[in-house]
Amino acid sequence: MTYQSFVPTVRTLMGPGPSDVNPRILTAMARPTIGHLDPEFIRMMDEIKVMLQSAFQTQNQLTLPVSAPGSAGMEICFVNLMEPGDKVIVCQNGVFGGRMTENVRRLGGQAVIIEQAWGRAVDPDQLEATLRQHPDAKIVAFVHAETSTGVQSDAKALCAIAKAHDCLTIVDCVTSLGGTEVALDEWGADAAYSGTQKCLSCAPGLSPISMSQAAVDAIKARTVPVSSWFLDLNLVMGYWGEGQTRSYHHTAPVNALYGLHEALVVLHEEGLAASWQRHAYNHQALKAGLEAMGLTFFVPESERLPQLNLVTVPEGVDEASVRRQLLQQYNLEIGAGLGSLAGRVWRIGLMGFASNPKNVLFCVNALEAVLSQYNAPIHRGVATAAVQSAYKD
Ligand SMILES: *Cc1c(COP(=O)(O)O)cnc(C)c1O
Repeated sequence: MTYQSFVPTVRTLMGPGPSDVNPRILTAMARPTIGHLDPEFIRMMDEIKVMLQSAFQTQNQLTLPVSAPGSAGMEICFVNLMEPGDKVIVCQNGVFGGRMTENVRRLGGQAVIIEQAWGRAVDPDQLEATLRQHPDAKIVAFVHAETSTGVQSDAKALCAIAKAHDCLTIVDCVTSLGGTEVALDEWGADAAYSGTQKCLSCAPGLSPISMSQAAVDAIKARTVPVSSWFLDLNLVMGYWGEGQTRSYHHTAPVNALYGLHEALVVLHEEGLAASWQRHAYNHQALKAGLEAMGLTFFVPESERLPQLNLVTVPEGVDEASVRRQLLQQYNLEIGAGLGSLAGRVWRIGLMGFASNPKNVLFCVNALEAVLSQYNAPIHRGVATAAVQSAYKD
């Protein structure tokens, strides 16, 4: 048996993540590996922390990338802030809220679930009413940008309600960071986590997190040790702490962190507000093209995520074979519906580096070509002009 190097086909990634990685980031990741306690590396770690604070719009000292994907960022928040028996309100409007509930249950907590319709934002009034019924709740958890449904919730309103009821908040910002506004200090959020492979357009595998002083105090006041050794923030803090006083905890994923550093440099060169505007702008052009074809969006306009578009599959079309054709013929990846939305929607990502006019036009045209091939009931030959005119406005 002989083995050969793995050389993947170049694809255009317009699904729910990973998104297209900026070549600058891939180049950064190919630079020589150095020791993770090397003074040069420690300087780079410090820059990552400062750039992450600015991306999250926070002064939180405890802001760092966890050496594992977004799911570990979720877990680190629950495992550190929760103790067995704690009551946690989980606002669930999609797949990722469901995973939060699973975290609460596995840690021996009491999950109180606010079940919301898929495709809709979390209702702040329902959170208020639930907190009145459960004055002993300790934590409120919700997903800012639900990637499974393409919906953004009002994080500022939800955090304010939680705070008024003396609850800590855990906020999933995996898909929002870099794509739409995340403002942890203004929101008063206590624990937030993100991922590198969505709107930061970095390779998957790291999870930036940030904890408020109230969250740090709660972690220090724990009576039961954190059940996970690897994710115990008391230990992680010793490694990601200030200056040269770092103690070995685990070997940092050195080259992956070069990539995150470069991704944050790219974000700061563009500017946060400019990045959000670009995501909104390209979303409008995609919308113009798809609607001209007669396709419809699943989420009410005011609750839509510009970086993740849920498009309803036309009657009689087998959504999986359309995606297969897009991949085989055009090297274009878009996402399928998850859970109860499987078979009913496509999820088209315009995240980070992938959010650009070239991809919008390419995706609209490729989708039109494949849907025409399947004789789907769409308007042909009008989408390109609609995209063009959206960019002219
Ligand atoms: C992608 C995603 C996650 C999980 O991140 P992984 O890096 O895949 O572990 C969590 N929450 C949301 C909202 C996501 O979109």
